[in-house]
Amino acid sequence: MILFDGIEKLINEHGSSVILKERIELANEKFAILEQKLSVSEIRAHQLEAENKLLKIDNEQLKIQIKNLQDQIHNSNLLTLKYGVYWDKDGNPYCPKCKTPISQIAWATHINRQIQGLKCTCSPKAFVLIENGEPIHAPDAMRRLAGG
Ligand SMILES: [Zn+2]
Repeated sequence: MILFDGIEKLINEHGSSVILKERIELANEKFAILEQKLSVSEIRAHQLEAENKLLKIDNEQLKIQIKNLQDQIHNSNLLTLKYGVYWDKDGNPYCPKCKTPISQIAWATHINRQIQGLKCTCSPKAFVLIENGEPIHAPDAMRRLAGG
């Protein structure tokens, strides 16, 4: 019985070393897969970090844009109509059609007269400023309104 015990022990040890070897191989494979997954995750994390940075910059710029647009809306609500165009409190003219600031002076024909009007990008023709039915040169009107 002692001999058989020894053989049985040998078989068991041999068997368990094969099993152990298989387990180690399996563990190595799993480790390699996890290592690969980790490096993929690290790359993805870097990408997301970079994307996040860009989105934060975008967000800041959009906040500024919103603020500017709100200011523009606020200012356009404070515009007054005079000579057929809008003016802000500082005497700057605004387009009567699109309400954006206009500063370009251009010659325009009013009936038979050449008159200096205001030209906006939204319109092909310059706007002629009118005071009591008579055309007025844009620079004169601007000087008057800037003067108060
Ligand atoms: Zn316009």
